[in-house]
Amino acid sequence: MKITKPDSEWRAQLSPRQYEVTRRQGTEPAFSGAYWDHHEPGVYRCVCCGAELFSSQHKFDSGTGWPSYFQPLRPENVATRDDYGHSMHRTEVHCAQCGAHLGHVFDDGPPPTGARYCINSASLKFESE
Ligand code: FE
Repeated sequence: MKITKPDSEWRAQLSPRQYEVTRRQGTEPAFSGAYWDHHEPGVYRCVCCGAELFSSQHKFDSGTGWPSYFQPLRPENVATRDDYGHSMHRTEVHCAQCGAHLGHVFDDGPPPTGARYCINSASLKFESE
């Protein structure tokens, strides 16, 4: 199910940082978010629409200062597109359900996938098991 809302509703629903990251393609400063050093078991949902995105089971310490996962919990909820901003080519990651910007995915992650989903804490809402 696709979720679309007027920008004003997202702005009202989210904190300024959550809005800037998820709806304006922002990036929180490294080591500033709630989840880069968070280790409880549970599920990370989209802060905008609640879709299940990532699991603590696939989280690893990347040393980057952003929460990092080697795979999505539900691949159908996590979509990607090419991003040519900042004079480089990266693969942008967003919520398939509401379009929230989450972060980027790189190919220098650990086994078993080799993927590193580098995600803003501001895009996530943790739910403990
Ligand atoms: Fe979403």
